[in-house]
Amino acid sequence: MIENTVPWPDGKRCAVAFTFDMDADSLIHLEHPQTGYRRVSAISMLRYGPEVAVKRILQSYREFDIQQTFFVPAWCIEQYTETVTAMVDGGHEVAHHGYIHENPNTLSPDKELYWLRRGIDIINNVTGQRPRGWRAPLYNFSDASIDFLIDEGFSYDASLMGDDIPYLLSTDKGRVLELPSYWGMDDWPQFVHSIDLGYMMPLQSPSRGMDVFKEEFDAMYKYGGLWVTVWHPFASGRLARWEKVVELIDYMKGKGDVWFARMEDIAAHVYQCIEDGRYVPRVDKLPYYMGPVKF
Ligand SMILES: [Zn+2]
Repeated sequence: MIENTVPWPDGKRCAVAFTFDMDADSLIHLEHPQTGYRRVSAISMLRYGPEVAVKRILQSYREFDIQQTFFVPAWCIEQYTETVTAMVDGGHEVAHHGYIHENPNTLSPDKELYWLRRGIDIINNVTGQRPRGWRAPLYNFSDASIDFLIDEGFSYDASLMGDDIPYLLSTDKGRVLELPSYWGMDDWPQFVHSIDLGYMMPLQSPSRGMDVFKEEFDAMYKYGGLWVTVWHPFASGRLARWEKVVELIDYMKGKGDVWFARMEDIAAHVYQCIEDGRYVPRVDKLPYYMGPVKF
């Protein structure tokens, strides 16, 4: 089913990365720049992430002895510095997720680069390292993004959906590794309902929502792929849902040959395999198109 997968370390069968995007209330201020600050209930729902859920998530990671990746908009790092410091102290990776969750597809390339660099500086200040990875806010990877990632020395991107396994994005400037996920691995369709954010879904029970991710895992485990969540602390970190996540981690651990890793470690491993010739990735040359498609 997968023709050519990565030889995962120590004979592990597949790789899993629980990645959380800690967007907190950046979303409401971006969606409603003039009135967001007055929408107290929506703010409280989103603040549940940094104020309550992240502590719970970090506690479980400690108990399972795993290190994972958080994508955090830089504005959220400024607002919730203690929460982000706790991630760093736990050995987790803090990766780039915009400044205030701005949409690169609505910005000029200059503005996109400005916010990207501002986020790099803020991550550098809090973690002591430049970010290795980026996920475009709401998957809004623009036609300028790839070259900015190459210029700024990013190791990987986590915004695109083009495969089940890592692949390379290449331009005339260079290349960046893509660690793909997709909407089926995102917790919004299962667990988010917010009139203020204009996103109204029929909420799934924790077990039904988690079944989606477990079935994704079972297939990745069977065929040796890469399982990457796009989850949000305010959504999947709620009590009953997190209880189900803990069961899922337990199930994965029980397999005995699943590699739990930070995205930066997965990227480093894949680059090493490429260099050794043990893995020949698929290459997507960007841009896909130079202009509007004529028809
Ligand atoms: Zn986000």
